[in-house]
Amino acid sequence: MRVLLVNPPHSLSAHNPLASSGLSLPPLGLLYIAAFLRKEMPAAELKVLDLPGRGLSAADLEKELAAFKPDLAGITVYTGAFTSAMNVSSAIKKACPECFVVAGGHHATARPGECLEKGAFDAVVSGEGERAFSELALKLQKRESLNIPGLTLKNSAGPAAGKYPPLDLDSLPMPARDLLDLKLYRPAVFGYKRLPVTSMVTSRGCPFSCKFCSKSVFGSDYRAQSPEKTLEEIVHLMENYGIREISFQDDTFTFDRKRVIDLCGLIISRGLDLTWSCMTRVDLVDEELLSKMKESGCVSIAFGIDGASDGACGLMNKGFGAEKARSAVAAARKAGIETRGYYVFGYPGETLASMEAALKNIMEIGTDHVFFAFAHPFFDTELYAEAREKGLLKATDEELRDSYDNTQPLITVPGAGPEELLKFYRKAYLRYYLRPGPLFTRLASIRGAGDLAGQFKAFRSFLKWC
Ligand code: SF4
Repeated sequence: MRVLLVNPPHSLSAHNPLASSGLSLPPLGLLYIAAFLRKEMPAAELKVLDLPGRGLSAADLEKELAAFKPDLAGITVYTGAFTSAMNVSSAIKKACPECFVVAGGHHATARPGECLEKGAFDAVVSGEGERAFSELALKLQKRESLNIPGLTLKNSAGPAAGKYPPLDLDSLPMPARDLLDLKLYRPAVFGYKRLPVTSMVTSRGCPFSCKFCSKSVFGSDYRAQSPEKTLEEIVHLMENYGIREISFQDDTFTFDRKRVIDLCGLIISRGLDLTWSCMTRVDLVDEELLSKMKESGCVSIAFGIDGASDGACGLMNKGFGAEKARSAVAAARKAGIETRGYYVFGYPGETLASMEAALKNIMEIGTDHVFFAFAHPFFDTELYAEAREKGLLKATDEELRDSYDNTQPLITVPGAGPEELLKFYRKAYLRYYLRPGPLFTRLASIRGAGDLAGQFKAFRSFLKWC
C-alpha cells in the first residue's frame, strides 16, 4: 500500500514579523503518524509531502501524485487554510480516483462535517491521528469494515463510537524525519542561537483553560515523554543529523518540573554539546529550575504571557497576573536565559485605555523580544463562542476558516475602530523596540551575515507596514 501524508500550503500575512523571519518547522504531527504506521505496517510505502516547506506549487503536487499514485492519503486541515486543504483533497481525487482521502488536524477535529461537505474527503480522523490512521490503513488493506474510534466516514451519521485513550508518548516511535530533508527547516531567525537546529515535541495536552486556546487535537490530559526517552531522541538527532540546538515546541515544556530537572541532569551528565529553547507559562518556572535549565544548555524561553495586566489575564482565564510575569522574566534573566514574551491584545472586555496600561506593564516586564497578536477566535474556543454571542465578531465563519492573520483585529473593542487598533498595535512594537535596551539586545543577537539579512528583511517589512 502506498500512503501519502500532505501538509497543505498555508502562509502568514506579509507584514507579520514571523512571515519574513525564515520560520519553517518540520510537520512533526505528520512525521509521528508516518513513524507509527511504519511500525504497524512495515511493508507500506510512505511519502510525506510538505508543500509549504518545499515551496511546491499545485503543478508540482500533480507531478508528485502522478509518480507516487497513493492508495491512502492524509491531509492536515488548518483553520485559516481551509480552502487550501480542500483543493489538495480535490487534486488527489482527480489524479487518483481510487485513493482513500482523509482529513485530520485541528480544524478537521473541530469541524469534521465541514471538511466532508466541502472537500473531496472519504473520512475525517478526529484527535490524535496515529492509531486511527494506522488502523484505517490496515483495515483498508484487509478490506474490513471501517469502524474505527474517532473516524467519521462521508455520508455517515457521525463519528464511530468509542475513543482511544490518550497515547503513552514513550511508546511512540520517533517522528520519521528521514522522510524529509531536515536542512530545509529552522525556527524564526530570532528563535535559535546555533545551527544546525531542529524542533521536538515531548509532551501533549494542556490542563489549563485559557479561553482563546484551541486544544481540539490533544485535549486537556497532559502527557509527557520520560526524561530518558527525550534524551534518546536528542542524542539520535545529534548523532544522525549533526543537530546542536533543539527548539522544544511543547505548549508548556516545564509543566512537570521534576521531568525537566531530570532531563537537565541527564544532558549535563552526558556532557552533550547542546543548546536548547522552549515555551512555557510564567507560573511554571522558579529560580532553581531555571538555573538547572541554563546549566544544561537552555538559551531562550518563550513565555505565553498573553494578558499583560491582571484584568486581561482574568478575561482570558490565564490563571496568573502581571506580577507573576514580572518575577518569572526577572528570574530567567538572572539565570542568564533570553526571554521572549507573547501577548494578546483586543480581548473581549478590553478597551484602548486598558491596552495602553497593559503596554506599560509589557515594557516593565521587559522580555528581550516581544510578539504581539490580536485575539484570534478559533472555532472550538470559549473566545469564539463569547465573541459571536456578544456580536463582537464581524468576520463570517467562511472568512475565519480561510485566513489566519493575528496582526489584524477581528474582535470589536468598544470606542476603537480597526484603524485605531492597528495604530496602537504598530505603536506598541515601535515603542517597545525603539528603546536602547531592546534595540541593543536585538542587534547583539545577530550571528553573522545570513542572520543580519534575515533580521533586516523582517525589520524592513515591518517598517513598511508601520
Ligand atoms: S494557551 Fe497554553 S497554557 Fe493556555 S490552555 Fe493553551 S496551551 Fe495551555
